[in-house]
Amino acid sequence: MTYGEALEDFAIMALLGCSSVHVGGGETLLDPDGLCLVLDAARDAGVEIRYVETGCSWYRDKDSSRTLLERLSSHGLHTLLISMSPFHNEHIPFNKVKGVIEACHESGVSLFPWIADFYLDLDTFDDSVTHSLDEYRRQFGETYVENLPRRYGIVPGGRALETFDGIMEESSIEELTEAKRETGCIELSDTSHFHIDLYGNYIPGMCAGLSIAKEDLGHPLDPDEYPVITRLADGGTGALLSWVMEKYSFRPQRRSYTVDCMLCYEMRRFLVVEKGFDSSKELQPANHYLVP
Ligand code: SF4
Repeated sequence: MTYGEALEDFAIMALLGCSSVHVGGGETLLDPDGLCLVLDAARDAGVEIRYVETGCSWYRDKDSSRTLLERLSSHGLHTLLISMSPFHNEHIPFNKVKGVIEACHESGVSLFPWIADFYLDLDTFDDSVTHSLDEYRRQFGETYVENLPRRYGIVPGGRALETFDGIMEESSIEELTEAKRETGCIELSDTSHFHIDLYGNYIPGMCAGLSIAKEDLGHPLDPDEYPVITRLADGGTGALLSWVMEKYSFRPQRRSYTVDCMLCYEMRRFLVVEKGFDSSKELQPANHYLVP
């Protein structure tokens, strides 16, 4: 993301009433120069950066980390959200997290551990290597992963759909679609915690793979330009399912799912991958669906 792109996005956010944001990734600190420019753009647009998120994969040693955080601090970084959970520990050794915590203390940057409650769990294992969820099951009991949603705000998207598939109870398509037939997906209009991707697309709800072009923010969406999102907003997955079955001959792969978001994602992926659906506005970035 360039300084100009970030400045434009922050200006739109400020215009629509958002005065503070967080910066996330991917991994924000893989490109410290780029992150400095984003921090500068926020400052110049008058938008506060509440925190920057990191997974700590970039950590090498204490001195270079402290120097990096001091540099970011001079560009306005005051709080670092540090990922800390079994999901994260599947990919990042805990000693990197500990190293960044120490560097934060030394550089005067505040910590926002996400989630501190997991510290002791993670600290049970050898912190120099990663650990699978199966190791957590073996250490803490068979129901450990099943109980994680009580301790972690799981968003039903991305790899969470696979992790919890087969663990959580399933409901029939009829039950899942009926539940939102009247209300639609109210998640889509929730602006209390939103994201804008590096291409400038607004991501409604926490629904990765759905997008609204920035020029369309702030007024009602045109159903012809946003046939997927407007159907989901009006009648949930049931409304989208009827349309996709009728117009594109879609057939669900299963009779039951753990959450309707699984079916929603299956339909969206089908539209992009199987049907080459023109998704230039509402199903972005397209590569999101093309990754196997
Ligand atoms: S069903 Fe689709 S639109 Fe509704 S909350 Fe789930 S992912 Fe979002």
